Amino acid sequence: MFDSTIRYILKSVGIDLSTKFPTSPISFKKILKHYTNLTFIQESLDSETDGMYIRSNKGYFIVINKDRPLNRRRFSVGHEFGHYILGHDSDITQAKNSHNQSEVEADNFSSSILMPPDIIYELSKDDMTISEMATWLRVSKITVAFRCLYLGIREHEAIEVKNAITHN
Ligand SMILES: [Zn+2]
Repeated sequence: MFDSTIRYILKSVGIDLSTKFPTSPISFKKILKHYTNLTFIQESLDSETDGMYIRSNKGYFIVINKDRPLNRRRFSVGHEFGHYILGHDSDITQAKNSHNQSEVEADNFSSSILMPPDIIYELSKDDMTISEMATWLRVSKITVAFRCLYLGIREHEAIEVKNAITHN
C-alpha cells in the first residue's frame, strides 16, 4: 500500500533496486543520511522494546534497541522510519502494542521498504526459496512469507513457512 511512496524514496536517495548484489541494496544508513532532521541512535533499551520514534521540538529521533539481532533491528528501523514518513506521533514499539492502527501501518511500511515488489518478483523468478530470500534480504523468514502472501506469490511455500513458525 506504500509502494509508490517507497519507490520514490528509494529512487531519490539513489538506491538501485537490483538483485545482482550479493545482499539486499536496501541500506538504512544510505537512506537516513538524506533526512537531516532525523537522528538515528542505537542503544540498549529495556527487553520489551524494539525501538522508539520521538517527535519533539528538538527534532525527530529513531532509537533502536541495539541488543536485538540484525534482522530484527533492520525491521525496527523500517518501522520507526515509517512513523516518520507517515507523520505519526511519538511511539514506543513493543510487541504488546502491535495491533494499534499506527503500529500496523508502520509494520506494513517496513515490510514494503525492505521488500520492494520489483526485488521480490525478481528473487522469486531466480528460484530462491523463501529461506534463501530472507538471508539475501536480511529479514526474517516469517516476514518474507507474509510479504509473499500479500503480493500473491509463492503462496504454498509461504503458508508452509508460516505454519512451521507459528505452530512451534
Ligand atoms: Zn511503532
